[in-house]
Amino acid sequence: MKQDTTKHQGKRRQLVELLKQKGITQKAVLNAIGEIPRHLFLDSSFVDHAYQDKAFPIASDQTISQPYTVAFQSEQLQLEPGMKVLEIGTGSGYQTAVLCHMGAEVYTIERQHELFRISLKRLPALGFNPKKLIFGDGYKGFPERAPYDRIIVTAGAPSVPEALLAQLVIGGKMVIPVGEHQQKMLVITRTSSTDFEQLVLGDFRFVPLLGDKN
Ligand code: SAM
Repeated sequence: MKQDTTKHQGKRRQLVELLKQKGITQKAVLNAIGEIPRHLFLDSSFVDHAYQDKAFPIASDQTISQPYTVAFQSEQLQLEPGMKVLEIGTGSGYQTAVLCHMGAEVYTIERQHELFRISLKRLPALGFNPKKLIFGDGYKGFPERAPYDRIIVTAGAPSVPEALLAQLVIGGKMVIPVGEHQQKMLVITRTSSTDFEQLVLGDFRFVPLLGDKN
C-alpha cells in the first residue's frame, strides 16, 4: 500500500520553499501543496521524482501539470472557501485535490475515460470529495450546475470556449491557457451579462484541449 512518509513531507516542504521563491504567496495554495501527497497521483515509475517542479506523463498520453503551474493557476483564481468551481481537465486529479483542499465546491470534467475512472477512485480514497466528477467534453462546460464563481482550464485551448464564458457568474473569473503550441495564461473576469475583462499573463505549455472532432 502506497504511503505518505516523513521523507515525502520533507520533500514537499522543499517544494513549497521553491514555489515561494518563484513568486507564489497565497497561503491557502502553499498549504495545499505542502499537504497533498503528489506522489500518490503519479505512476509508480515517477514516484521518486514527485516533488520536483516538473510535469510528468500520466495515463492516456496526458500529463500531471508542473506544481508551479498548478500553484500559479490556483493563485490567479483568487478563490474563497465555498466558491463553486468548474475545472476542465481532471487529469491525475491533483489540481482537483488542491481546489478541494482550498475549500471549493468542485465540478471537474475529463474526456479520457481511463483518467476519469482513476480519479473517481483515487480522490475519495485520499480524502478529497469533489461535488461531481464528469466524464465528457469540457468545451461544453457543465451547464446543469452553472453559473460558476470560478472556472479553471488545465489544457491549452486554441481560443476561449464561448460555452464556458456563458457559465461564469457575473463577477466570476476564469483562468485559461490559450494558444496552439505555447499558451498565454488569461484571467478573464465577467463584469456584466455581456462584458468581460481580460488579463494576459505569462507563457506556459500544456497538452491541448481536445474537442469532439479530435
Ligand atoms: N490538472 C491536471 C492534473 O493536475 O493532473 C492536469 C491535466 S492535463 C495537463 C490536461 C487534461 O485535460 C488531460 O487529462 C486531458 O485529457 C484533459 N482534456 C483535454 N481536452 C479536454 C476536454 N475537451 N474536456 C475535458 N478534459 C479535457
